[in-house]
Amino acid sequence: MAAGASLADTPEALWSAADVVVKVRPPLPTEASKARPGTTLLSLLQPERNPELPPVLQSLKLSALALERIPRVTRAQKMDVLSSMANLAGYRAVIEAAAHYQGFFSPQITAAGAMPPARVLIIGAGVAGLAAIAAAKSLGAEVRAFDVRAAAREQVESLGAAFLQVEIQESGEGAGGYAKTMSKEFIEAEMALFRKQAAEVDIIITTALVPGTRAPILLPKDVVEKLKPGSIVVDMAAEQGGNCELCKPGEIVEFNGVKIIGYTDLASRMAGTASRFFANNLVHLITEMGAGDKFRVDLENDVVRPALITHGGELLPPPPRKEPS
Ligand code: NAD
Repeated sequence: MAAGASLADTPEALWSAADVVVKVRPPLPTEASKARPGTTLLSLLQPERNPELPPVLQSLKLSALALERIPRVTRAQKMDVLSSMANLAGYRAVIEAAAHYQGFFSPQITAAGAMPPARVLIIGAGVAGLAAIAAAKSLGAEVRAFDVRAAAREQVESLGAAFLQVEIQESGEGAGGYAKTMSKEFIEAEMALFRKQAAEVDIIITTALVPGTRAPILLPKDVVEKLKPGSIVVDMAAEQGGNCELCKPGEIVEFNGVKIIGYTDLASRMAGTASRFFANNLVHLITEMGAGDKFRVDLENDVVRPALITHGGELLPPPPRKEPS
């Protein structure tokens, strides 16, 4: 209120008064029923996971933008909530690992004894994985990482981590700069690599995702068995089924003295910063759409159109995806 906003008494009052509704989570199908036709909704919508939602938004004649569909291009980076939240979550994954790990991350040479640095393996070097590498390095750990996309190598090495490889040659680049589903042979080669790595490392953070599919299983039980007691796994893919076979979403599982952390709310564990970054992204998006009276849903706008799933009573299919730049 100090910032000039007014508080609605009920969600219905808010929906019926607003021209633009900004949300973090998708609305429940019943929630938007009081919205006026033509209202713009800016929210994470995940229509693949909530197939009942688009027809409801269509029948209410909302212009609904799914924030997760904002294109991952340089021009739209400041509006990209997926990147902001993945960045926070990757950092927080390391903090959670450090809180549960009973050793130092940085090497120690003390009168009471010497300790080598913690060895950290990061699987998947997208936005979250790179943030995790930077956080683990800044705590003094020795970090190694693996990704199926060749482009990740330079980014991993520029953060001072070692990039691991498998013998088998297969391109991991899929549509839109994301990874593709890898062959069974490649996944087996990866698991052989991780089995060897598990005998050496103290902490594994997994972030491997392929859009539109369940997360690949990369740490089966026999790989976890190779980890020393006291080791930590943080499975950042928990919400999409998990990269670790033993992961339970939202829980910490203990197996042979190894803790497997399956938190699905890593960004929310830094709620203040997550809110600030999310709000900044949304301010940039609203500014892109036009400040004040100029605000409009422009179907020609190359950031707005890919995110738009319903408009003017129509369901809009996604336009062809452009490569990230
Ligand atoms: P993501 O969350 O979909 O996946 C995380 C990582 O898992 C990816 O790096 C992927 O290659 C990796 N992965 C998938 N299967 C794997 C397997 N079997 N083994 C190991 N790793 C596996 O990815 P993301 O963080 O959202 O990034 C996706 C792409 O978009 C990246 O190329 C990123 O650089 C790009 N991007 C570009 C911008 C931009 O504005 N230009 C912004 C954000 C992301």
